[in-house]
Amino acid sequence: MSTEQTLPQQALSERLERAQVIPLSEFSPDTASWERPACRVCGTGGLIEILNLGEQPPANAFVLPKDANNPEAKYPLSLRLCESCGMVQLGHVVPAELLFRSYLFFTSSSKWMADHFSNLMNENAEQYVPAGGLVVEIGSNDGTALSAIRRRDVRLLGIDPARNIQVLAASRAIPTIAEFFSEPLAEEVARVAGQASMIVACNVLGHIDNLDDVCRGVRRLLSPAGAFVFEVPYLKNLLDKTEYDTVYHEHLSYFAVRPLVTLMNRHGLRMERIQSFPVHGGTIRCTAKLGSGFSDDVQTWLDQEEKAGLADRFTYGVFAALASKNRHELTTKLTELKRQGLKVVGYGAPAKGTVRLNYCKVTTALLPDVIDSTPAKQGLLIPGTHQPIHPPSALADLKPDVLLLLAWNHAPEILAREAELKARGCRFLTPNLEEL
Ligand SMILES: [Zn+2]
Repeated sequence: MSTEQTLPQQALSERLERAQVIPLSEFSPDTASWERPACRVCGTGGLIEILNLGEQPPANAFVLPKDANNPEAKYPLSLRLCESCGMVQLGHVVPAELLFRSYLFFTSSSKWMADHFSNLMNENAEQYVPAGGLVVEIGSNDGTALSAIRRRDVRLLGIDPARNIQVLAASRAIPTIAEFFSEPLAEEVARVAGQASMIVACNVLGHIDNLDDVCRGVRRLLSPAGAFVFEVPYLKNLLDKTEYDTVYHEHLSYFAVRPLVTLMNRHGLRMERIQSFPVHGGTIRCTAKLGSGFSDDVQTWLDQEEKAGLADRFTYGVFAALASKNRHELTTKLTELKRQGLKVVGYGAPAKGTVRLNYCKVTTALLPDVIDSTPAKQGLLIPGTHQPIHPPSALADLKPDVLLLLAWNHAPEILAREAELKARGCRFLTPNLEEL
């Protein structure tokens, strides 16, 4: 067995030890990444590389301090464009089993997000789900969104492959199947529980390699008047705000409306509605129903995307140049702050923080410490760059002069929570070097 194959297995073994949920024997020994030969949505070959973030560790593969000197598994992280349908996707796929069976992001850890999902569930359940109807959430995480449904006359079912999360969902009394959603699973659910009036998938499609299988499953499970409501981070926001740190191994796809329409239409789903929300740096909520084509509302989005050149390789040349410029400016800024004797602490250890720090090569010399409010991450090290992750209470000892908001998408919440630090003169800096 090659080193490339054994190392990820070891890393995985450690993570599972922490989660204490799954025996390693359930995993395939082949944990190397593989290169995708053709577009995930339309099957066209000859994808064009538009951004290369180098070899990176999986962004959520936090490191135990005792393993700090062991080599980490790293995989190529690059974005490619299909000029045929406008789909932007990773060039290399890391096996999902490696990334998602033990997942360290819990929906309920952010109140703001929990409110957002609660609104989604309640508004759509009102519109689409009759009394006794079934609501299925793909990627139900710890059950937060489903448990927010206030109606008591509907049936709920969560589907999420992360088994450590399932334990939490059980504590919320949300029935959850610990599997990846697929056509065979959809068929089984339809057989046992009947068809679903509403299928929800938030920040899930971008994680799935085989989108055809998922769409076939949705088509199979959805009732004739039902709605498939899904949210994905919007590609245009990623470009407009140079959010290159939202590119990581778990995110296989970066959606614009045009490739989504292609995908849905190929599977007998009609794109009805698109709404935009300032979540995760810019998210679209799409509603699809059984049928073909798309609504006039969707046509407006397609026109805007055409105008913005979202399927045009030159648009991405500018994006890549801006990412490279940010790398230079961020390290220059941190070097300068260090020279001034100012203490900088990273705020939040999200996956995007891992990507930013690794791409920009921000070592512990430039950023020695990071804090994060998620207990499961505390005491571990950031993958690749190895900043120790402390609980927020450590800020009292760390006495930062500047907080670098690695979790910049939660900036309003962070500013509200740390108003006292701000009042005492601590500066708040985003990784794109905006002072807040
Ligand atoms: Zn394509």
